[in-house]
Formats: sequence, structure tokens, C-alpha cells
Amino acid sequence: MRLYNTLSKKVEEFVPNEKGKVKMYTCGPTVYSYAHIGNLRTYIFEDVLQKGLEYLGYDVKRVMNITDVGHLTSDSDSGEDKMEKGAKKEGKTVYEIADFYTKAFLKDMDALNIKRPTIISKASDNIDVYIKMISKMLRDGYAYVSGGNVYFDISKAHDYYKLSGMDNDDMIIGARQGVEEDDRKRNQGDFALWFTISKFENHIMKWDSPWGVGYPGWHIECSGIASKYLGEYLDIHCGGVDNIFPHHTNEIAQSEAYFGHKWCNYWCHGAHLNDKNGKMSKSKGGILTLTKLNEDGYSPLVYRYFCLNSHYRSQLVLSREGLDSSKNALSKLKNKIASIKDEGTLDKKKFDFYDNEFKDGFSNDINTSSMLTTLYDVLKDNDLNGNTKLSLVKSFDKVLSLDLLKNDSDSCIDSKLKKYIEEQIKLRDDAKKNKDFSKADSIRDELLSKGVKLKDTREGTVYELI
Ligand code: AMP
Ligand code: ZN
Repeated sequence: MRLYNTLSKKVEEFVPNEKGKVKMYTCGPTVYSYAHIGNLRTYIFEDVLQKGLEYLGYDVKRVMNITDVGHLTSDSDSGEDKMEKGAKKEGKTVYEIADFYTKAFLKDMDALNIKRPTIISKASDNIDVYIKMISKMLRDGYAYVSGGNVYFDISKAHDYYKLSGMDNDDMIIGARQGVEEDDRKRNQGDFALWFTISKFENHIMKWDSPWGVGYPGWHIECSGIASKYLGEYLDIHCGGVDNIFPHHTNEIAQSEAYFGHKWCNYWCHGAHLNDKNGKMSKSKGGILTLTKLNEDGYSPLVYRYFCLNSHYRSQLVLSREGLDSSKNALSKLKNKIASIKDEGTLDKKKFDFYDNEFKDGFSNDINTSSMLTTLYDVLKDNDLNGNTKLSLVKSFDKVLSLDLLKNDSDSCIDSKLKKYIEEQIKLRDDAKKNKDFSKADSIRDELLSKGVKLKDTREGTVYELI
């Protein structure tokens, strides 16, 4: 398996710390609003990475956090807490907001066939872990208390900029852009580990600590949750590219300060989904959710297919044409698979040949479009019997997760069209019962003109997209 590592800026051979086992940490959502489809692109890439590794035979333990506390409106240490802002806007408590959007997030993950991480843990459930880590960093001189808050001193970190590739000059610019002046800090790049005082008054989520009643900084939650469930050594840590700085940079600084050794070997970052205004982002507004996308005519699995067609490290621009072509392609693909007759016996040699090609695509830094090409090659191969084709499709779908063997075209159809087709089938049934065959035929023809073919079976009328 070869994987691009943001740390070395190279594609490297992947070698886990323990043979056959992978410890993987993926940053989770901030649950003050719905995830947008940009966020979901990152989770799809992480899902393919996990499933691909499992397909290669690794035992993957994956942990994800839910940020329900400590994420401020700017990614620096200042600004209003996003959770509390969301709660105020909706007239709910922060806990109700977090609970509501966590459920919505999990529903989106299910709709996209994303496997649930082994552990999903809320930031607010691990306060004791952060306190333990911060206390040790204070004892060891990596952190300091100033004006009521605890800060990490970045000048003490070993090679603080190694992940981002930034240098001190970039940092001065970064400090001006992202980190607001704070007189309590020794260096303006220092970041808060624990707040007892922040610009935002009346913070509701608060806990007792050795430094006073307060709440944790954003970065410490991921280091804390990762160490609680995965121990001292991580194999892979993922997120979107916007997480490289400051979030992952700070995670490395504090985890390595705490453990006293290198923490994570492979850092994998997914490129952004852009709309016409650039990166899709919650704070900018105008975001597209999975539900809205579905209402617009594109089902969750069409979106998954759309994402799989591009490489995770390339920016992906959202366009109607791109989504339409994914919708057509997935629908055709499923129809083609549905038409394969399960005949013959498994041709092991051919199975292994294509299976290895599929694995090669994945092992080449998660080349999902090459994995899809292998699938199309299987379907095109006239010398391959139906049994072998279907076995390969079933096997590949463990990673692609496009419901390729579900004999419905439903997963490519948006809810509006589906509802319309079902209504038309009902009207046609009524017309047939009333012996109004010309009406029944005109309904069938009208659907056909929209690319929907009806078939009357003993179980009732079914349809397929053509
Ligand atoms: P958030 O909920 O804002 O903390 O983001 C959750 C995940 O989505 C993080 O891993 C981000 O890096 C990632 N992310 C944010 N915006 C985008 C985008 N436009 N495209 C892809 N991933 C994104
Ligand atoms: Zn994180």
C-alpha cells in the first residue's frame, strides 16, 4: 500500500506499527449545524481508506470525535463558540443542538454507506483525559498558565512546522490572519489548551479543573480522544486539508510533548469540495446538505459515485453537469449489473487477476477512478462468465459501497422522481383496473420518455432507469 503522507510530502510505502493492524484517527464534525457535502467528501475518502485497508487484510480500528465543545468561530483561539452561537440562533440548549446535529450527521453517514468508526466519542465526554494531559504538559514545561487560561508554548515543540511546511515568516502572516492578538500569550502562535476566560461570556459547557472552571481548547480534544482509545502510537490520522494548520499542527505539538516521542506516522488529507465561490464552508454560508442535494435530484450514492470519480487529493468542483453525468453513469452501471445472469462457476484465475488490479488501484494512493475502471473492465469482458462477474462486483462493492448488487435503480433516483414514478404506477394500475388501456399506455410511454421503463411482474409493476 502506497499512501501520500503530508508529513514527508511524498507517496510512501505504508507500514503500520503492528503487523496487520491499523490504528486510524479521523477528525469528526463540529455539530452546531448540518454537515455540508464538502465535509462529507472528506468522510467518504476516509471510509474508502478504511475499507480498502480492510480489503487488503488489515484489521482497522478507527476512532472519530464529535466536537460538541471548544470549537470557536475562528479557527484561532478567539471568537464566539460555534456551538453556543448555534444554540442561541435556534433557541435550544447547546446539548440539544449537539444531540440533534450528531444524529443528523450519523444519518448522512448511513445514507452514504459510510461504515461507522469503531469508536465515536464526544469531546465533552473526555474532560478528565484533557486535564491529565494538560497537567503533564504544565509539569514538563510545554505549557503555561497566563491570565486564567492554559496555553501551549509552541517554541518548546520539536519542529512545530513540520506538518504544514510553514516557517516562522508564514507564521507571522498566519498570526495576523488567524490568531487574534492575545496579551496573555508568550508567542502569538501559542494556542489555548484550557480556557477559564474567553471573549465569550456565559459559556454554558463548563467543567471544574485545577486552573478554574472552564472548558478545553479545540485541539486537545483530538489528541485526548485518540490517546484514550488508540494509545501512544497512531498509524494514520486523517482530515481535510484545512485541518493541517493549525489543528493537526497543534495536535502533533501537544501529543508529542505529552508522550515524549513521535506520535503518528502517516498524515492523510483530503482536498476540498469547491463551489463557484471556492471552498464550501459552514462559516461562509450557502452550504449544500445531503438532504438538499437529494431534493435537487441527486441521491446520496450518486454523490458518493461523483466523489469516487476524482482523486481525494484533487480539488473537486461541484457542478450540475458533473452530478448529472454521475447520476446517469451509476444508473447505467446498476442496470448493466442487474442484467448479468448468474451462470457458470467461479473462474478463480480471472477473479484473482481483476481483484489484484482493483487492489493495485487502491494501493496506488487510493486511486478510486482506477478502481472504478477495473469494475468497468470486468463488466466489458466477454470471456468472463456471469458468476465470476457477479462475485467480483460483490467483492469490489465492499470498498466502493455503491449498492451495486441491489436490484433497484432507487439509489440513483432522487426522492422527488421516485415519488412521481410511484404515483404514476398507481394511476396506471387504476386505469388498467378500469379497463382504460389507452390511459395506462400513455402513462407508460410518458415515463419511458423520461428514461423510466416499466415492467409488469407477478409481484407488481417494477421500473428501471434506461
Ligand atoms: P468541521 O465540521 O468544519 O470541523 O469539518 C469536518 C471535516 O470536513 C474536517 O475534516 C474538514 O477538514 C472537512 N472539510 C471542511 N470543509 C470541507 C470542504 N469544502 N471539502 C472537503 N472537506 C471539508
Ligand atoms: Zn481533530
